[in-house]
Amino acid sequence: MRAALFEKRSLEDLRIVEVDEPKINDDEVLIRVVKAGVNPVDYMTVTVLPVNPLPHIPGREFAGIVEKVGKNVKNVVEGDKVAVYTRIFDGTCDMCLDKKEMLCRRGGRIGTDTNGGFAEYVNVKAKNVFKIELDWDIAASLPVSALTSYHALKEAQVKIGDYVAIFGASGNTGMFAVQIAKMMGANVIAISRKYWLKEFGADYIFAYEDAIQKVKDVTNNKMVDVVINSIGNKFFDLSYELLKPGGKLVLFGSLTGSEAKINLSNIYNKHAYIMGTTGGTLKEFYDLIQIAHKLKVRIWKNYKLDEIATAIKNIFSSERDGRIMIIPR
Ligand SMILES: [Zn+2]
Repeated sequence: MRAALFEKRSLEDLRIVEVDEPKINDDEVLIRVVKAGVNPVDYMTVTVLPVNPLPHIPGREFAGIVEKVGKNVKNVVEGDKVAVYTRIFDGTCDMCLDKKEMLCRRGGRIGTDTNGGFAEYVNVKAKNVFKIELDWDIAASLPVSALTSYHALKEAQVKIGDYVAIFGASGNTGMFAVQIAKMMGANVIAISRKYWLKEFGADYIFAYEDAIQKVKDVTNNKMVDVVINSIGNKFFDLSYELLKPGGKLVLFGSLTGSEAKINLSNIYNKHAYIMGTTGGTLKEFYDLIQIAHKLKVRIWKNYKLDEIATAIKNIFSSERDGRIMIIPR
């Protein structure tokens, strides 16, 4: 099969090669990848994250059709369209028993700790796959983009009538945070310049320059219940400023940088909650599939597998306005 493979830690080394189709064991399925999504984590995977195996096939987010099943597999059959929960988990550690599979003590990430979906085929455990009837762009956006946002909003316990401000609202996770927060009954404030977010459920779209005053106006000076900041330190101070006393600031990305200065007395005087989240649980992935037909995704560009390096590089393009997807064949 054809796959995107790297050995040295650089995008320049990422190339398309002919490799053996993955072998499956009795508990695994072989998936023909129909569509894969490109995320900042794929850039990190190629350049800095510890990976296994090496040479490595990246691709943290994908969906496809079951090509083969191992002899113990009961939940899907050949030909089923499937979405894939792309976390590795053993199901036996304290975190898994607590239904936090993404924190599994012996776990990891498909596409980083195993080969991923930037290939014609990928093998995964049957317990990670769910039969779907969904648009491929949505299906391939569930494992990272949609699930991360869904979990973050659940962890923040967003309620009907809450004000939720979303930084990076037009990004991969942000466009799903906007939609899901709206479904949860929140008043959604996108901190963005992209007016298409109105069609995704944003009630307000404020540029960051005047976000504080605009948020004061719409919340009657109360400020917001929850801030989702997936873009890192550039807007950390601003995201904290938008928070009401007792509000929750949720962090799950650091595209603009990871280090921020924190004034401890500000945090306790505001009774603020600063929370980190990563990915989502297996049950949340299942729940997300049940509402996924109501979700939309904005695609900026589709690339062929041969264009993988350009596709990953363009994650950082200032012209990007929507998702970057890969069509492996
Ligand atoms: Zn575990």
